[in-house]
Formats: sequence, C-alpha cells, structure tokens
Amino acid sequence: MNPAPPTSDFRAVRLPAPGRPLADERVAAAAPGTGEVLVRVKAAGICHSDAHYRAGVGSTRHPLTLGHEIAGVIEAVGNGVTTHRAGGRVCLHYLVTCGKCRDCRAGREQFCATGQMIGKDRDGGYAEFIRVPAQNAHLLPDAIPFEQGAILMCSSATALHALRKARVTTGDTVAVFGIGGLGISAIQLARALGASSVYAVDVNAAKLALAKRFGAIPIDARASDPVQAIREATGGRGVDAALELIGLPRTMEQAVEVLAPLGRAALAGLTRERISISPYRDILNREAEIIGVSDHLATEIPELMRFVLAGALDLSSVVSRTVPLEAVAINRVLDDLEAFRDDLRSVILP
Ligand SMILES: [Zn+2]
Ligand SMILES: [Zn+2]
Repeated sequence: MNPAPPTSDFRAVRLPAPGRPLADERVAAAAPGTGEVLVRVKAAGICHSDAHYRAGVGSTRHPLTLGHEIAGVIEAVGNGVTTHRAGGRVCLHYLVTCGKCRDCRAGREQFCATGQMIGKDRDGGYAEFIRVPAQNAHLLPDAIPFEQGAILMCSSATALHALRKARVTTGDTVAVFGIGGLGISAIQLARALGASSVYAVDVNAAKLALAKRFGAIPIDARASDPVQAIREATGGRGVDAALELIGLPRTMEQAVEVLAPLGRAALAGLTRERISISPYRDILNREAEIIGVSDHLATEIPELMRFVLAGALDLSSVVSRTVPLEAVAINRVLDDLEAFRDDLRSVILP
C-alpha cells in the first residue's frame, strides 16, 4: 500500500535562487485541478541540464523544484481525467504545452510559445509529489523499472529524436560523439533503426568499453584524430549521420567533417560558442546538412517504450548511482556533473 497522500505539505529539494545550492524545503500540497494528475514520484533523474539551472542558466522562476526526468505512480486524478486512474505507473513528458497553437497542432510542440518545461519553468520532480496535466503522463509498462522510466524521458528520448532528425535508416553508418547517458541510448537506438555500423567517439576508456558492449565500434579520440580514424574505417567515405551529444565546438566540427556525401550532422550538445567549418569542403561539396536537435516529441515516448520492451534499448547499465531526496546528496551529484566527473546517470529515489 502507498503511504498516505499529501494533505498539508510534502518534501521537495528546491533551487531558492540562481547560483545557490539546492535546499530541502516543504511545499504546500494541492489536489489535482481539472485535467491534471497528481503523481507520487518514484524516481527522478539528475541531468547535466540541472547543473546549468542551479547555476541560474535557463531556469526561469525561483524558488523552483528542479527535475524533469520523472517516473512515478498516479496518486489522484482531477476532474475530467479519463485516461488515468490512481495507482497507474507513469512517466512524465517534460514539456507542458497548450495543444492548440499552430506548432502544437503540427506536432512540433517544442516550439509552443507558451510551453513550459517541467523542472525549469515550473516545479519538477525533485519532490515527493508533482502535479501535471494528464496528457503529460505516459503509461509506464510494469516491465520497465521506475529509474529507467525516468531517464527514458530525457536522454533516451532526445537520442531518439536526434536520430530521427538525422533521418537514420537501414544500412546507414552512424558516428556518435559523446558516450554518456544520451550516447549509450543513441548507439542502441541507431542499431534498432537499422544502422549498419555505429562508431562511438569518446576519451573515456570505460565509456568506450561500454559502447563496444552495445555493438558500437569504439573510437578513442585521445589515441587518434576521430575524423581520420572513422574515414579510414569507412574506406574514406565517412558516415551517413553523425550525432554530437557533448556540446563542445571541436566535436561539433568533427561531426560535420566526418560526413559522407549527403550526410547529416545532428547537434544536440549545448554550447554558446561558435564553430568553424569549411563550407565548400564540408557542406556544399557533399550536400551535407547540419541539423539542430531541441528536446523531443510526446509521440516519440511510446515508441521508446516499445524499443525497451523489445530488448533493443537496455538501460540497466546506465543508472549508475541512486541518491535519496536530500539536498546535500543531490548538490554533490550536480557538483560532479559540473566538473564532468559524472559516471552515467544518477537517479533520486524519494
Ligand atoms: Zn535531462
Ligand atoms: Zn502550443
């Protein structure tokens, strides 16, 4: 049986102000409104983006409960909700959008002008409970553990979206730059989408070994120039699609330089710095494309679940650490992420 639902207030770990450490707080409980569900959080992923939000980059209101990778159980449903019942296992799509504007209706809801991201623009999942529109709660099959359901909602979903944007299809060769949580999903999903070979570029031996275990060809960027190494491995041709998942100008340039004729570079890592490419050599001459990747779509979530259930996406080795819902522990994980001392993924188990 679940513990009692919140009647007065519940625990949350919140960002009091930009640049401050997260703090343990109590938040007033509220019943779900019309069209909303109240979810008891069972797992919340700690993402590299959360380190940026803590630093005050991107987060738009304070105090704010961080956390946009959330899985849990429906505690209560508001009026008009027919799609969910109390007790149902769910994971939450992190974009709350209007559903009515031109972009929402066209199925590109990341561009909804009034859209809000959970854990960035509105309270997130570093808490015992969260209230969200019912449409954001996707059923989580019993076979998928909560902590995997949580990380599916960000890194795996974005990896799938990046592969879709890069139009990866059967027989394509793919290079993945950066083998973190995103990269491990990207390797597996690229193979599930029919990629003939996947080159995994990183500088970390353990991550390269993990990439190899999932069927990728490891490319150690410390040992040789990855562009040259991949060109040699592909008979000089390069790859049909390259994903940049780190957010470094150099690896973005490499993702472009490594493309074959008609190749697509999908850039998902975040940086404000500029990159330098040779338009003739890298783009025009090859009719190559550079494509931006922003978030993912709600429609990609059920598709992801099917990949997990079919065994094509195995996240069991991705969750490397679990922490309690306590500010001290969570701040420590964020410090590690900021210093790139991250393993793969840490998940809060409230
Ligand atoms: Zn995330
Ligand atoms: Zn909209």
